[in-house]
Amino acid sequence: MMGPVRDPFDDSPKEACGVFGVIGIGEPVAHLTYLGLYALQHRGQESAGMAVSDGEHLTVVRDMGLVSNVFDDRTLAPLTGHLAIGHTRYSTTGSSTWGNAQPVYRNIGEYQFALGHNGNLTNTAQLADEHGMLPGTVSSDSDLVAELLSYELSQNFDPTSSGALEAALMAVLPRLEGAFSFVVMDTDRVYGMRDPSGLRPLCLGRRGDTWVVASESPALDIVGATMVREVEAGEVVVLAKGEDPRSLRPFPEERIDPKLCLFEFVYFARPDARLYGQSVHHARVRQGEALAAQAPVEADMVMGVPESGVPAAEGYARASGIPFGQGLVKNRYIGRTFIAPSQEMRALGVRMKFNPLRDNIEGRRIVVVDDSIVRGTTQHQLVRMLRDSGAREVHLRLTSPPVKWPCFYGMDFGDSSELLAGKLDIDGIKDYLGVDSLAFIEIHRLLESTGAREAGFCDACFTGNYPIEVPVELNKGVLEAGAATRIERGSSVAASAVLDQPSLLPADDARRTP
Ligand code: SF4
Repeated sequence: MMGPVRDPFDDSPKEACGVFGVIGIGEPVAHLTYLGLYALQHRGQESAGMAVSDGEHLTVVRDMGLVSNVFDDRTLAPLTGHLAIGHTRYSTTGSSTWGNAQPVYRNIGEYQFALGHNGNLTNTAQLADEHGMLPGTVSSDSDLVAELLSYELSQNFDPTSSGALEAALMAVLPRLEGAFSFVVMDTDRVYGMRDPSGLRPLCLGRRGDTWVVASESPALDIVGATMVREVEAGEVVVLAKGEDPRSLRPFPEERIDPKLCLFEFVYFARPDARLYGQSVHHARVRQGEALAAQAPVEADMVMGVPESGVPAAEGYARASGIPFGQGLVKNRYIGRTFIAPSQEMRALGVRMKFNPLRDNIEGRRIVVVDDSIVRGTTQHQLVRMLRDSGAREVHLRLTSPPVKWPCFYGMDFGDSSELLAGKLDIDGIKDYLGVDSLAFIEIHRLLESTGAREAGFCDACFTGNYPIEVPVELNKGVLEAGAATRIERGSSVAASAVLDQPSLLPADDARRTP
């Protein structure tokens, strides 16, 4: 299968998707879904889509591009009804094509349903094999789940009977492994659900008698809904016309083990989101405060790399007493770029996104706060840009520990061979980036900064401790680095297995190593 198309100028981690669902009599549900997806645009920019039903028919509209490219008044006008789901996509499995845009749609005779998925299944190949599907029969893990539901609805349940989709979900969900927050609908009901580890977020809100589920709470805010609560790990919330939400529990109790993605607090989630009841913005401020305590330095100004580094820079400045200032202006209008990555263009790529404020930088010792280092190409260019603008010293502080391990649960960092911290130790990274000092937040401080340490987190990309077993075929990058052949649930693969590898900087980067 083709992998996702990468933006050559963007080495930030990529979220898998955003999902939204709504049910409300007399409500413009298509427009509400549009707004909800707009608020979730950061979770996926490759494609957008929605499914809408009036109780009789279900219509799906989806296309490649941003929410505002796919939908306008003309496309929304015919989408009338009282229930809808929506999806924004970044592909971590399956190719970046129209055919993989979501919601996924199926019909069994007259019966119709649609599905949107945020996450990444880890047992797709096994499930496809069990169902005798030939390679290439399904184009993504989301497509596979739709196939499994179709099979149940056509073979084991009567799709015309009320609650058939509910029964099919109860049969299929326990067989899925990995990360999944789904929104699913037919012409009667909307279902919102999280995997037993709750790796991807999902919350429930209401506006009067209208009920909403969404990946993040800002998608509730934008439609005027109030957050009721987060959907629990392993819970299915059923939204039906004129009823209060019901909960289903399809998973055995021993599988329920909350492990929300820690990276949501560092980078992925919007700062105005609430996760585990905590403000993401305030968590990021606390990350900066923790870094100031852990890695103090004498400097003249603290600046954040927009956007996610800024609240942490405020925290660092407040805790250290060093003035906060703006050092970079971000081009607000840039989206994904698809220009061929020539050497010259790579060098200019960061300038497309950031421009330095020379007056604030020249002659100063600068503390730069950023969220994470993945391939390191962005930070490498940023440091050069700051030095070219006259920075006397550059001290880099990261609000995440080194990202050494791939994510198999729906984030796209690339594999171990692409991760800078998978190849270099701290001193090596410091030399490569050309900074005067470098510090990554310690994992215990990061967990503490969430304000919900005991609630349960996945931190596998920092620790190698994967909460859900990763089968061999997914584990290719780690295998290439000479580590374990199978990552068992809860196991920790020795970091040295990767760090012992020779420093294989990409050729482009190696030429620019200071
Ligand atoms: S491996 Fe990292 S990015 Fe992936 S779910 Fe776990 S914490 Fe999040």
